[in-house]
Amino acid sequence: MKVCVYPGSFDPITKGHMDIIERASKIFDRLIIAVLVNSNKQAAFSLDERVDLIKACISGNPNIEVDSFKGLLIDYMNQKKANVIVKGLRVVTDFEYEFQMALLNKNLDADIETIFMMTNSKYSYLSSSIVRELASLGANIDEFVPEIIKNRVLDKFRVGKG
Ligand code: ADP
Repeated sequence: MKVCVYPGSFDPITKGHMDIIERASKIFDRLIIAVLVNSNKQAAFSLDERVDLIKACISGNPNIEVDSFKGLLIDYMNQKKANVIVKGLRVVTDFEYEFQMALLNKNLDADIETIFMMTNSKYSYLSSSIVRELASLGANIDEFVPEIIKNRVLDKFRVGKG
């Protein structure tokens, strides 16, 4: 059984993430979306909110699980008996960071493979930070986040705007 983990902050999930999730779920028997408990980075959405938003977007697919983890990804992979990490690649700057992480993880556990999927060209410039920025400015985010969570994302940034 090929179990793949898709790790990330998902703060919040975007259509770019969804594209990777849909494609990866067709290749693997089981896909675990693993939300990182950021210790050094303040997230806009709490861990529970990020997990809930993802769950709302993937409901109905029994091969996809949503979970969270902290600490070493490799330890989490072993705990879940997962053998593949999937990452999305957008621009060259993603590559540099991901290349380093993939080599590091390979060094920590040679049995675990990292695979990369090229972004869908429609979403090559899309990141969670862009969504947060647009939402906080009251811009339209229809193109960037799944319809089902759109209002929850907008509401987050409406709060406290006075
Ligand atoms: P970000 O905050 O930059 O959106 P995340 O940590 O949530 O990043 O991303 C998790 C994974 O999803 C990373 O492998 C990242 O490269 C990938 N990813 C994020 N956005 C996209 C996109 N638009 N297209 C393809 N992959 C993406």
